[in-house]
Amino acid sequence: MSIKKISKDEFRLVVDKLIGKGNVFGVKSKGDKFDYGQLESSKELRLDYDVTLQPPKKYFQPPVETLVTYQGQGNYNSQYDCEKFVLIGVHPYDMIAINQMDILFSQDNYDSHYFARRNNATIVACDVVNASQNVFASSMNTAVVKDGFDVLLTDIGDSYIAEAATQKGEELLALAQKAGEATKDDLHKRQAVWDKNKKELNKHQLNCSVTYLPKLLERAYNNPIWEEKAKTCFSCGSCNQVCPTCYCFNVQDDVNWDLKSGKRERAWDGCLLDGFTKVAGNHEFRNNRADRFRHRLYRKGKYVPSKIGGQIACVGCGRCIGACLPDIANPVNVYNKLIDDIGII
Ligand code: SF4
Ligand code: SF4
Repeated sequence: MSIKKISKDEFRLVVDKLIGKGNVFGVKSKGDKFDYGQLESSKELRLDYDVTLQPPKKYFQPPVETLVTYQGQGNYNSQYDCEKFVLIGVHPYDMIAINQMDILFSQDNYDSHYFARRNNATIVACDVVNASQNVFASSMNTAVVKDGFDVLLTDIGDSYIAEAATQKGEELLALAQKAGEATKDDLHKRQAVWDKNKKELNKHQLNCSVTYLPKLLERAYNNPIWEEKAKTCFSCGSCNQVCPTCYCFNVQDDVNWDLKSGKRERAWDGCLLDGFTKVAGNHEFRNNRADRFRHRLYRKGKYVPSKIGGQIACVGCGRCIGACLPDIANPVNVYNKLIDDIGII
C-alpha cells in the first residue's frame, strides 16, 4: 500500500472532489469547540482540532435507529441505512474505539445494522496536532493507531503524509494527482510526530501500566471510593453519552394505532442512568448510584477487556472529564486513587 506526501492545498482539492461525489463528514468548528458534521466544502474541515464534542461512533451506531418495520401477520422488513460515506479526521484514540466496536458488534450476535454502515464507510484518520485539555491517550497506549482506517494522515508542517491501508484508501489517494511517494526524510518527520504524541497526549497520568487495570479492579470491588464519588453524581449519563467506547442500547417497539403495524427502534442507553437495569416486575439490579458509578469503571477496565483480548475500553479521549459537572468522572483519578489505596502487586 502506498505512502504519499500531499500538500495541504492538494488535500483540500481531494476533499472537494469527494464532496462532489457523495456524503462526506468531517470535523468542523462549533463556536470555540469542534464536532463532526456533513462537509459542504473543504474550507469547513478542521484537522487541527483538539477533540470533538461527540465521538464519531454516531456514524456507525446512531443515537436512534429503526431496525425493523412490521405490518403484522409476519410481514417484517429489516431497515438498513446503506449509503456510502467518507469520514475525515478521526483521531487515533477514536479509531481504536471504533476498532473495539468492530470486535464487539461481531461477537455473539453479528450486528448487521452496525456493519452495514461500517462497510460503507471510508475512514480517513489523522494524527493529533493539538492536544485537548483532558486527553490522556499516552497513558492508555492510544496516542497512535496502526489499523482500522483506510487512510492515515499525519501533519508534518507544510504537508501531510498519507498512508493508504486498504483498497478504498488507495482509491481515495489516487484523487491526489500531484502527490508523490513519501521520502525517508518525510517518514522520519512522521515518526517524530508519533513519538511526540506518545509522550505528550497526557494531561492526566495513569500511575500504572494500562494492562494492570483489570487486576487492580479485581481487588477494588468494596473500596469506599465508589460511595464517595457517587455522593455527587447526578446520574445524568453524560459520561456515557460522550464516550467513544460506550455502546449500550435499548430496543423498543413503537406500535401504531392499528395495533398491527409499527417499528422497532434502538437508542443509546447508559449504565449511569437510573432505570438502565430495570426489568419486568419493576426489579432493578443497580438502583443505587454507587453501584452504577462502579459499574462504568469496571466495564471500561475489566468486563469489556475480557471480551476484546485485554484491550482497555477507555481510550483516554478525556471527553467524560469535561462533560461531568461535579467533576467525578475522570477514570485516571479513580484508578490512581485505587492504586494509592491498594498498591500494585
Ligand atoms: S471513559 Fe472517558 S476518557 Fe475513557 S474513552 Fe470514555 S469518555 Fe473517553
Ligand atoms: S459521573 Fe458525572 S457525567 Fe456521569 S452520570 Fe455522574 S454526574 Fe453525570
